[in-house]
Amino acid sequence: MSKTAMGTNNLDAFWMPFTANKQFKQNPRLLVSAKDMHYKSHDGREILDGTAGLWCCNAGHGRPKIVEAVQKQVAELDYAPAFQMGHPKAFELAARLAAMLPSPLDHVFFTNSGSESVDTALKIALAYHRAKGNGTKVKLIGRERGYHGVGFGGISVGGISGNRKTFGNALSGIDHIRHTHDLARNAYTRGEPEYGVEFADDLEKVIALHDASNIAAVIVEPVAGSTGVLIPPKGYLKRLREICTKHDILLIFDEVITGFGRLGAPFAVDYFGVVPDLVTTAKGITSGVIPMGAVFASSDIYQAFMNGPENLIELFHGYTYSGHPVACAAALATLDTYEEEGLLTRASELSDYWENALHALKGLPNVIDIRNLGLIGAIELQTHRRRPDKTGIPGFPQCIRKGRADPHDWRHHRLVSASDNQQRTDRSSVRYARRCVEELG
Ligand code: PLP
Repeated sequence: MSKTAMGTNNLDAFWMPFTANKQFKQNPRLLVSAKDMHYKSHDGREILDGTAGLWCCNAGHGRPKIVEAVQKQVAELDYAPAFQMGHPKAFELAARLAAMLPSPLDHVFFTNSGSESVDTALKIALAYHRAKGNGTKVKLIGRERGYHGVGFGGISVGGISGNRKTFGNALSGIDHIRHTHDLARNAYTRGEPEYGVEFADDLEKVIALHDASNIAAVIVEPVAGSTGVLIPPKGYLKRLREICTKHDILLIFDEVITGFGRLGAPFAVDYFGVVPDLVTTAKGITSGVIPMGAVFASSDIYQAFMNGPENLIELFHGYTYSGHPVACAAALATLDTYEEEGLLTRASELSDYWENALHALKGLPNVIDIRNLGLIGAIELQTHRRRPDKTGIPGFPQCIRKGRADPHDWRHHRLVSASDNQQRTDRSSVRYARRCVEELG
């Protein structure tokens, strides 16, 4: 068959990411429009976006200010290189973002996604130690059940075996500390779990093994999102900070999910009162409208690169689309929207309702844990009877279809609802989670 004869509705050509392509293409679920908290499907159904897209549409869909800014920007300056040139909105946005995070996180490097932000942060960490004359500090430490995107750096420090096993060892010189999920002691915790601060001491063990002189950085999600909403035990992040400072190891918070208001504070940095050396972000920076990411770096890190001759490039790293004008315009309008509507702290007003509603599902069949913080929550279910080998929790929003989870999809049997949309509280997402659990029971 010629390519044109295949027709425009052929689904075969698109190799879909993180998707069971064969299954999807037999029964496609296509989204054709979106407004506020709802999608419209190709067959006319209204679908609740109970997970804010892929945890990224923090202001909801079709927000007028963002739409307008993108339309205007694309007509005015559709592209400008960021290498040896610049455009005003990239500088404006960087300054505005830097002002949102506590000092010394005063510098911003633009990327196009969370994966790129992670790889950028890891590279900055390696280059920083080298710039300071500590060239042996090259090891990177991640954590079990961490998700840091799909670049080679991200999968290496990440802790999801499914993302790693097919791709060899990717980066060498990586080690991991244990995850903090402890059902035996912390099941049904509301907010930060009481037990487990000592999980942070794993880092001391890893340092004793490899020696601090060889370790560049530790990366963790302040709240692990994609592997099932793992909330850090009280005091855990603070202890990680102390250990890193003691051994001159950079601490990186991956805030691709927690950034831009999901916990009820602008960033997890604010929520937990712990300031790392680098912060990776993406998703909510443009409310998902245009791909963009940003890495925040401390002044100490930035200044370490600024000691050479003026005419030399300090960091051999960057993307064709770093600080893309349309993405910058979208981000600036998104920040305006967040500010005008109080969305960066709105989750703190809604979190009690969300918490009580989620925990009301305790006691339903197969439910073994419920946990929540800000507007993130998870309902953990017993392992699937027919697929006991499937013990991992895939991170992506599973319950996208309104009204019905697919009972044959093992993933529904582990984690029912990942997060609410933070634009406004939505009773139907909790009702929906309840229906899913009941159906699966
Ligand atoms: N880091 C974290 C914590 C994430 O949750 C994600 C995506 O879900 C990423 C990195 C990767 O982001 P992206 O898919 O934009 O590359």
